[in-house]
Amino acid sequence: MIIFFNRRACQFKPESPPKYSGAAGVDKSTSKVGQLRLRPHEIDGRVTAENEVVMDQLTFLGTGTSTGVPMIGCSCSVCRSPNAKDKRMRSSVWIQAGGMSVVIDTSTDFRTQALAVGMTALDAVFFTHYHADHIHGIDDLRSFNFIHNRAIECYGGADALERIRGMFGYIFDGRPDTGGGKPRLELNAITAPVTVGGLTVEPIPVMHGELEVYGYRVNKTAYVTDCSRIPEPSLRRLEGLDCLILGALGIKSHPTHFTLEQALAAISTLAPKRAYLTHLNHNIGHDEVSANLPPNVFLAYDGLAIGI
Ligand SMILES: [Zn+2]
Ligand SMILES: [Zn+2]
Ligand SMILES: [Zn+2]
Repeated sequence: MIIFFNRRACQFKPESPPKYSGAAGVDKSTSKVGQLRLRPHEIDGRVTAENEVVMDQLTFLGTGTSTGVPMIGCSCSVCRSPNAKDKRMRSSVWIQAGGMSVVIDTSTDFRTQALAVGMTALDAVFFTHYHADHIHGIDDLRSFNFIHNRAIECYGGADALERIRGMFGYIFDGRPDTGGGKPRLELNAITAPVTVGGLTVEPIPVMHGELEVYGYRVNKTAYVTDCSRIPEPSLRRLEGLDCLILGALGIKSHPTHFTLEQALAAISTLAPKRAYLTHLNHNIGHDEVSANLPPNVFLAYDGLAIGI
């Protein structure tokens, strides 16, 4: 991790209006970050002007389950909650580390999310799996084609990429673009760690019901979203973490997702220094559930940025 501290950063006021439309903030539980905010357009090549801040960081672009929260047509207390931390777009994270800017998944809300956090560069995309909530923002990668004037490298499991090829035939069928525009993407199937610039990302297979999907590990941080079982070999690859981000759908049992209780049990087994829960549904009220979590476990929320 590289940090350049400076005067302007110290002048950042916690009460300043967040850039993010929801509940933006920086996790106070990590002293590495404090109240500092990364300026993504200055990440490439670690070019920093005086008084700028650069650090390795992960930002939660969305922390909701496939419907998002609030859910269309629902009037439950969480869907009607005025708390910004109860507003959840579809799950995805943005990692700025090793001089690279990468996202894990392009959620249905990707465009809104990228605008909200001021994302102006993107080097690569890692897909966890092919479910709609994790990939339906894929067309908006076009903007990064325009910015960088090149194809965007995308990584994932072979099966997930094959499904994505089929679901987005207009992108991958090789037919000429007749004016509608399509993103330029390079799909790379991986089974082992891949290094993008100065960033090494390790795929970790986990089970999402009967479907094998990928979690990803970057240094001592791992992101494991849709998951109902972690196989033994993957458990070993998730040891020694500073930070585990784990999906916890809600309270009621579900065939393809950990419940809150099951996620807490997995966290207890893996014993990361701290953990964040994501992919949350409308049974999880932020304040109510947060009040009863173990001291090193937190509910993630949209716009939250943590040092990694
Ligand atoms: Zn999902
Ligand atoms: Zn609801
Ligand atoms: Zn899924």
